[in-house]
Amino acid sequence: MATQVPISEVKGTSRENRTAAHSHIKGLGLNSHGFAIPQSGGFVGQAAAREACGLVVDLVKAKKMSGRAVLLAGGPGTGKTALALAVSQELGTKVPFCPIVGSEIYSAEVKKTEALMENFRRAIGLRVKETKDVYEGEVVELTPEEAENPLGGYGRTISHLLITLKSAKGTKKLRLDPSIYEAIQKERVRLGDVIYIEANTGAVKRVGRSDAYATEFDLEAEEYVPIPKGDVHKKKEIVQDVTLHDLDVANARPQGGQDIMSMMGQLMKPKKTEITEKLRLEINKVVSKYIDQGVADLVPGVLFIDEVHMLDIEAFTFLNRALESPLSPLVILASNRGLTHVRGAESLPASAHGIPSDVLTRLLIITTHPYSPPEINSIIRARLRLEGLSVADDALAKVSQLGEKVSLRYALQLLAPASVLAKVNGREAGTIALEDVDECEGLFLDARRSAQNLATTNGFIS
Ligand code: ATP
Repeated sequence: MATQVPISEVKGTSRENRTAAHSHIKGLGLNSHGFAIPQSGGFVGQAAAREACGLVVDLVKAKKMSGRAVLLAGGPGTGKTALALAVSQELGTKVPFCPIVGSEIYSAEVKKTEALMENFRRAIGLRVKETKDVYEGEVVELTPEEAENPLGGYGRTISHLLITLKSAKGTKKLRLDPSIYEAIQKERVRLGDVIYIEANTGAVKRVGRSDAYATEFDLEAEEYVPIPKGDVHKKKEIVQDVTLHDLDVANARPQGGQDIMSMMGQLMKPKKTEITEKLRLEINKVVSKYIDQGVADLVPGVLFIDEVHMLDIEAFTFLNRALESPLSPLVILASNRGLTHVRGAESLPASAHGIPSDVLTRLLIITTHPYSPPEINSIIRARLRLEGLSVADDALAKVSQLGEKVSLRYALQLLAPASVLAKVNGREAGTIALEDVDECEGLFLDARRSAQNLATTNGFIS
């Protein structure tokens, strides 16, 4: 059967990933009674804080956190960001996690309350369910059909693409418009991939590789999926995750319809435009309508504000109000400061963590502790495993020592350059040697050494 479909491409909507340093974190690593398993979920130690975060997850799930927020208080590199990320993972799959640093809200272009609002909306997801007419199966044939170049001259053009999809119930051969060839190429579809093509729009989505191919390829690198059940041509429920901010951006552009899919369709054309309060209210209305109709679910995520003492009194006032909103994500603040003045209110007495008292009273405060040397060693080893790096024993001991003396973050940051040096220095199997770590330590200063350096160098004001 010949099927002509126009093309419209579906793109991901996730923000630039800022959590790469935490890719070993997979959850809080708690047992069914809520106790921390010493090494689990990518976490090592920090048991009390992980258990407290587990309780926060329970409170959020029981809808008992509204109007409140969490403060993670502890020194640099004690896992505050990692804990906040793990909380979002425990809340469910594809729950938005929006990490920012307090100072980020100050920009010449955007008002600080506007910047905060934007991040609140990045942290609130919407899961849209739609039933679509799709062709789904494993690709068992992929043949471009060529034709004479219609403009004459040399060369041939691709006139159609023949694609045969296989599912548990049988196979179907489709002849597709050449424009879909582009979409197929963009998704890097190969034989053995499981894909679906939306019948109406021609959008192509690569779901994974058929498990029939699992033995031939590196199992870690690919996601293997069973051959789809049922017919190739069928109705399928498709779930799309977007954030309220994605919808704001999409709809700041005037053209397009009011339904969610056309809102999302506009996400493909990135262009900075004005998002007004009125527009947000309208979006909220449409979103509530979709939720009432059962087409979409709200997925409140986590807004993590590191170095919260960088917020000023105005920003805190905004935060206080935003926490009351029924459309609020879980807000997790982090601070490594003790008693300090609230920015913009220096005439008032100093306050704990530089947070005004009206916000402090809303907080559940969880402390994080410095790590013991064996814990630092385990965290570094976990990170090495994840990055597929090997390291000599004395080099590992040195990195761990730096983790203790300087900071865990500094030690972890040295791993990548040290592995590059190991290769440059021609180490066998690229194994990081003690000399590589020493060389890196000399090349990259930690903050304290860097400051000392400047203070002792002529011409610098200390
Ligand atoms: P900062 O005060 O600088 O913001 P932080 O307290 O947020 O630091 P993280 O960024 O979470 O600290 O931790 C530094 C690094 O160590 C990250 O790569 C993090 O994933 C890792 N890490 C921290 N604590 C743990 C832990 N208990 N188990 C495993 N990895 C950890």
